[in-house]
Amino acid sequence: MIDRTHDPRPTSWVASANTGGDFPIQNLPFGVFTPPAGGPPRGGVAIGAKILDLSAALKAGLFTGEARTAAEAAAGPALNPWMALTPRARTLLRQRLSDLLSGDNPARFQIEPLASRLLHDAEVCVMGVPAEVGDYTDFYAGIHHAENVGQLFRPDTPLLPNYKYVPIGYHGRASSIRPSGAPVHRPSGQRKPPELSVPEFGPSRSLDYELELGAWVGPGNALGKPVAIGDAGSHIVGFSLLNDWSARDLQAWEYQPLGPFLAKNFMTTVSPWVVTVDALAPFRVAQKARPAGDPRPLPYLWDDRDQAMGAFDIQLEVRLLTPRMRERSMPPEVIGRSNATDLYWTFAQLVAHHTAGGCNLRPGDLLGSGTISGPQEGSQGSLLERSQGGRKPIQLSSGEARAFLQDGDEISLSGSCGRGPGRIGFGRCSAVILG
Ligand code: CA
Repeated sequence: MIDRTHDPRPTSWVASANTGGDFPIQNLPFGVFTPPAGGPPRGGVAIGAKILDLSAALKAGLFTGEARTAAEAAAGPALNPWMALTPRARTLLRQRLSDLLSGDNPARFQIEPLASRLLHDAEVCVMGVPAEVGDYTDFYAGIHHAENVGQLFRPDTPLLPNYKYVPIGYHGRASSIRPSGAPVHRPSGQRKPPELSVPEFGPSRSLDYELELGAWVGPGNALGKPVAIGDAGSHIVGFSLLNDWSARDLQAWEYQPLGPFLAKNFMTTVSPWVVTVDALAPFRVAQKARPAGDPRPLPYLWDDRDQAMGAFDIQLEVRLLTPRMRERSMPPEVIGRSNATDLYWTFAQLVAHHTAGGCNLRPGDLLGSGTISGPQEGSQGSLLERSQGGRKPIQLSSGEARAFLQDGDEISLSGSCGRGPGRIGFGRCSAVILG
């Protein structure tokens, strides 16, 4: 799993990749971008502050064999064909990209003279959603979030008995997935606060974010053919940050017993770069041991190798920038910090469970992890938890308070693995709330 592309020492001849940012030579995430000159959206790879244009690199003859086939699959207007490849083909492409962009590999002399044609300034490119998402599923695998939210609604039994047996999820809405930067329109819907005897309709007063990881599905499975837990990890291509915007007042009235609808379907923001499972290989860790007394997962969800290395050490943060902070040139304030190791289920377990009944996953499907909260104060991944259902607004350094989000607020998620040389990050996942 670990190869020369993970060595933390090499730097890139692209100077901006060597400055401690999210996209050093060890990362090489894939995305879809439109350059400033226009033209069709196309596949690219982030390197420092630049984007390598894969179709231009193909035309320049920089790939051969399986790496060429993989580059062709990743060069189009959506990454689904690249996601459908075998893990081996994606790995070969990554190795070739690493050789081309590394400062100490002779391959640099093939590409460096063409840099002005092949590399675009990321800042002036428009990023899209990396794949055409056929289906989006949102899980609920963050146990601390489930406990915190359960506590608000059912203080006696915060977790229902199925939680530790079944990876809980629901089928979400793919049409409203947007890349970082697209604004969020405050949704309207029905709500029924306790003081009213009948519901009313209007703009949500309890708009919230959810700090999640989005897993991009690879090859997938045929209808009626479940993916075995031992193979399930190979059906995940990589991850983006995911903000599952939530209207808590609409959710409280509409969701029981079926599932979220208008409370969730108005928008989901993803970061535009797919950080691959290859790039994350050095940051795989054992799944956290279940607390004493918790049941062992049923056999179709248990795999020793998955338990030993199926979790990812990804540090996550949420930042809030209010209009007042913006006016005063204050930096965004961190309002939540957690880690993907706080998830109760591995992504392989989510895939195995999702397909256990025969449901087919397809390349480019998106799986939300569920809100990732940690056990400590300040590690909650939503305002619902941080403000205890809106009863205790959080106090901000600007002197403001927030129980839920107001118009003009901007929420940014960030994620990173490691510190120092070889650290990789996920890029931007931000959106502003419109009234
Ligand atoms: Ca969610």
